[in-house]
Amino acid sequence: MTHIVVLGAGYSGQLAANLAARRLDAEVTVVNERDRFVERVRLHQLAAGQELREHKLADLLRKSGARLVVDRVRSIDTSAHAVILESGEPIHYDTLIYALGSGPDLESVPGVAAHAHPVTGAEQASRLRARLSDGGTVTVVGGGLTGIEASTELAESYPELKVRLLTGDAFGSRLSTRGRAYLRSTFKRLGIEVRDSVQVTEVRADGVVLAGGEHMPSDVVVWTTGFTVPALAREAGLAVDEHGRMLVDETMRSVSHPDVYGVGDAASVHVGDQELRMACATGLPIAQAAVRAIAARAAGREPRPMRFRFVNQCISLGRRDGLIQFVHADDSPREAVLTGRPAALYKELVVRSALLVQRHPAIPTSF
Ligand SMILES: Cc1cc2nc3c(=O)[nH]c(=O)nc-3n(C[C@H](O)[C@H](O)[C@H](O)COP(=O)(O)OP(=O)(O)OC[C@H]3O[C@@H](n4cnc5c(N)ncnc54)[C@H](O)[C@@H]3O)c2cc1C
Repeated sequence: MTHIVVLGAGYSGQLAANLAARRLDAEVTVVNERDRFVERVRLHQLAAGQELREHKLADLLRKSGARLVVDRVRSIDTSAHAVILESGEPIHYDTLIYALGSGPDLESVPGVAAHAHPVTGAEQASRLRARLSDGGTVTVVGGGLTGIEASTELAESYPELKVRLLTGDAFGSRLSTRGRAYLRSTFKRLGIEVRDSVQVTEVRADGVVLAGGEHMPSDVVVWTTGFTVPALAREAGLAVDEHGRMLVDETMRSVSHPDVYGVGDAASVHVGDQELRMACATGLPIAQAAVRAIAARAAGREPRPMRFRFVNQCISLGRRDGLIQFVHADDSPREAVLTGRPAALYKELVVRSALLVQRHPAIPTSF
C-alpha cells in the first residue's frame, strides 16, 4: 500500500492527513513535534490570560485512522524518499505532504529575538502571558491582523495596561473606509494608542527605537510583523522562494519534486497571478486541494488547478467585539462590514469550524 507522510499537524497538515486517510487507498502517517493541536488563531487569547481547551491530536486523528508520530523533523532526504526525525528514525514515504507552518520573524530588526515577545507559538504566547501580570506599558509592533487582534485582546483583558500599537503602514490600510473608521473607534474605546507610518529599528530591554532615533519606553514589546517558515524545504533541495516557502504548482505539487506536496503557510501557493496569504482561511482549502490532486493522480486523472475566492477577513477585537470585512475575490476590501457583537460571534463560529472540519473533513463533490 502506498505510504503518505504528512509533516506537521497544524490546521493544514492535520486536515490533509484526515482527508487522505479517509479517502485514499493509502497508509497515512503524520509527524508532529507535540501531541496536542495548537489553535494558533487563539494564541492572542492565551497571551491575554484566557484558558484554551486542550485538543489531543490522537483524538482528532482517531476516526480517520491516520497514524501519529510525535517527534521533531530534522531533515528530508528526497533521494532516499525519507524523513529523518530527531530520534534518529527514518520514515520512508511514497508521497510527502509538507505542512510545517510558520514562526515569528525574529531577525528583521536587532533586539527582537532577545527582547520582544511573539504570539506565533503556544510557548511564546504563554511567556508573554507571564510577563503581562506585571502591568505597565505594552507596545505591539505590527498593524496586520495579528497585531490588531493582539492589542485589542490585551487591552480588553488588562484594562490597567497601557497598550500602544506601532505600524509601518497607514493604520487599517487593508480595510474599507467603514472598516477603518470602526477600527479607530474601537481602539479609542479601549484606550489603545496608535502610531502609524513608523519604522521600529531596534528593540531594547526597555522599549523600542524608531527610525530617526526616538526611544519609546515600554515594559513589554509584542512582535507581530510577519511570519517566517522553517528552513527544512530549502535544506532538502526543494525549490523554494526567497522566503523559503516551497514553490508548488496549482495542484500544490512541488515544482521540483513531483512526489512532494506543500500546503499551508510553508508553501507559496498561487491561484492565477495571486499568491495566497498565510492564513488558516487559505490553509484549509489548500490542504483539500492537495489531497484532491493526489487522489486524481492515483486514479490516473490529471487534477484540476485549485480554485479559490476570498470572501471576508474575520477580525476579533477582544471577546465582545469584532470586525468582518467583506472582500472581493482577490482579497481587496468591499465597503460592507459587519461589526460589534454579531461580528464577534461570527468570528467565534469561524474559529470553531476550523477545528470542526478536522473531525468532519468537508470534501467537495468533485473529490
Ligand atoms: C495570534 C494569531 C492569530 C491568527 N488569526 C488568524 C485568523 O483569524 N484567521 C486566519 O485565517 N489565520 C489566522 N492566523 C494564521 C494561522 O494561524 C496560520 O496561518 C495557520 O496556523 C497556518 O496553518 P499551517 O497548517 O500551515 O501551520 P501551523 O498551524 O503552524 O502548523 C504547523 C505544525 O507543524 C509543526 N511543526 C513545525 N516544525 C516542525 C518540525 N520540525 N517537526 C515536527 N513538527 C513541526 C508545528 O508544531 C505545528 O503543529 C493567526 C495566527 C496567529 C499567530
